[in-house]
Amino acid sequence: VTQDAGSAEGKKQPVVVICIGMAGSGKTTLMQRLNSHLHSKNTPPYILNLDPAVSHMPYSANIDIRDTVDYKEVMKQYNLGPNGGILTALNLFTTKFDQVLGYVEKRAEDVDYVLVDTPGQIEIFTWSASGSIITDAIASSLPTVVAYIVDTPRTTAPATFMSNMLYACSILYKTRLPFIIVFNKTDVQPHDFALEWMQDFEAYQAALNDSARNESGESGYMNSLMGSMCLVLEEFYNNLRAVGVSAMTGEGMRAFFDAVEEARREYETDY
Ligand code: GDP
Ligand code: MG
Repeated sequence: VTQDAGSAEGKKQPVVVICIGMAGSGKTTLMQRLNSHLHSKNTPPYILNLDPAVSHMPYSANIDIRDTVDYKEVMKQYNLGPNGGILTALNLFTTKFDQVLGYVEKRAEDVDYVLVDTPGQIEIFTWSASGSIITDAIASSLPTVVAYIVDTPRTTAPATFMSNMLYACSILYKTRLPFIIVFNKTDVQPHDFALEWMQDFEAYQAALNDSARNESGESGYMNSLMGSMCLVLEEFYNNLRAVGVSAMTGEGMRAFFDAVEEARREYETDY
């Protein structure tokens, strides 16, 4: 990743926040919340929507993949199902991404934040060539951080929590970008249990044992695997920041933007 000459000349550069997360974790709702928060601070962001299949978008994007490709048309034309249509739409858009980046760069001096929303289904972005190409193109042009959005109420079971963290971990090592875990929906479920599990593997293992006792069907093998995984993830946990937010109520915005600032500094020293 090259540092663009702009920063050396003292030109202001925005930070790009790429929102990634499982379907329904609240990426789009968080984008809306961040957008209205930044508007209220008089620093409106520049917004890219990369989800071709979003039906209701609660914010208006500066660049919207849906203006370029219609994934339903793509499905018909190439005889694909919905996931194939979305992936192909993203691929088609990626072939024009140098132009898109040109637009972003033109506005770079006027904005503090560039926010990027990604397709609902996480793997369409994280396990596709297009997702990597887009991420790398953005990150080689501007300071870029990844916000990994977690559906906190749906990750309270220790095994589910571990799966989600392993997925996040794979994205961190794939993108090698500064990383923020965003525990969303704290209005429904506070994220303190998650922070405790990340900081204290004995607390995690105790929760794992409790859940095994409750669902007597849980296999000992699964538990011992998850127990070992939490030790593996210690290194990963040390490499990121974790914040709790509610995209619904706006709780946690301060912590979120502090984490973005910290992640941006990491980008500037390491990339
Ligand atoms: P995406 O697929 O990741 O873009 O998720 P969406 O933003 O479309 O949100 C999925 C669902 O979660 C919607 O019904 C949202 O209203 C809901 N949601 C998102 N954020 C929050 C939140 O902070 N609190 C609550 N209670 N619901 C939320
Ligand atoms: Mg969405």
